Amino acid sequence: MNLSSFLYESKKYIGVLQGDQMINLTLLNDLYKKQHLVDSTIPANLEQFIENHETLIPYAEKLLEYFDENRLEIQGVTCSLSEVDILAPLTKPEKIICVGLNYLDHCKETGMEPPAAPVIFSKYANAIIGHKEDIECPVNSNQVDFEAELVVVIGKEAKRISEEDAEGHVFGYTIMNDVSARDIQFADGQWVRGKSPDTFAPIGPVIVTKDQIEDPHQLDISLTLNGEIMQQSNTKNLIHRIPAIISYLSQSMTLKPGDIIATGTPPGVGMGRDPKVWLNEGDELSITIEHIGTLTNFVKKTAASEKNSSKESLLSN
Ligand code: MG
Repeated sequence: MNLSSFLYESKKYIGVLQGDQMINLTLLNDLYKKQHLVDSTIPANLEQFIENHETLIPYAEKLLEYFDENRLEIQGVTCSLSEVDILAPLTKPEKIICVGLNYLDHCKETGMEPPAAPVIFSKYANAIIGHKEDIECPVNSNQVDFEAELVVVIGKEAKRISEEDAEGHVFGYTIMNDVSARDIQFADGQWVRGKSPDTFAPIGPVIVTKDQIEDPHQLDISLTLNGEIMQQSNTKNLIHRIPAIISYLSQSMTLKPGDIIATGTPPGVGMGRDPKVWLNEGDELSITIEHIGTLTNFVKKTAASEKNSSKESLLSN
């Protein structure tokens, strides 16, 4: 099931994306309830859906069967992608955990040794945006870079679990661009300030439930910048694999439903190139992961006049 959060006629819904058709689960549920005299609700956001997924996934499957059997008679529960605004599937996860240096070739391009244990850092929810939204370069950076990443969405609380049990705690998978301001990132002894500016965590466009992904370590992953391929790899090249990452994290922190873990980026990022590539006004970035979809975002640079006024206000303070 490809789950999405979207706006239709200014109202927020969750739905299932099938091809270029969005099936509105809330409206479908309203029809089903009337016909079958049941009293079930579909939440308006995916956070609540994930929290209650053990009952809601089988129920949503039943709704989709009902849709398939009655699609000629049912009107108004689907719309085309052009009629909706896709939103970030999750907006306030308790944790956005990122794994750094997790593809062997990416370690080489950054000149760093492959880490024996996962390198962990965080982004914050202020950074989250959705499909087709703008990445806004902060005024204090001229080196904004991109990182295509497979993201694991936690479905069930995980505390001190083994690698063998990790998969049972996964809800599904999505895509994130781990946008990074390199000048800020490396000016610090840690990374979080350069990793978590507003808009630096585009995610989506859908969360694909885990039953749809036969092996998360066999997925082609690529990123294009203005149509040119910059990153191209496969998740089989991950150094630390998903069960190991989940088990490792859960030894010291309880993972909660809706937490997201970005698993690292393959080679080809802007800072690893000669000459280096930094993002500019109007750039279009698309990340595609096999069996999940394509996440597209645009780049917006703060105008020089805005930069000047912010410097002036800093000086006057
Ligand atoms: Mg990253």
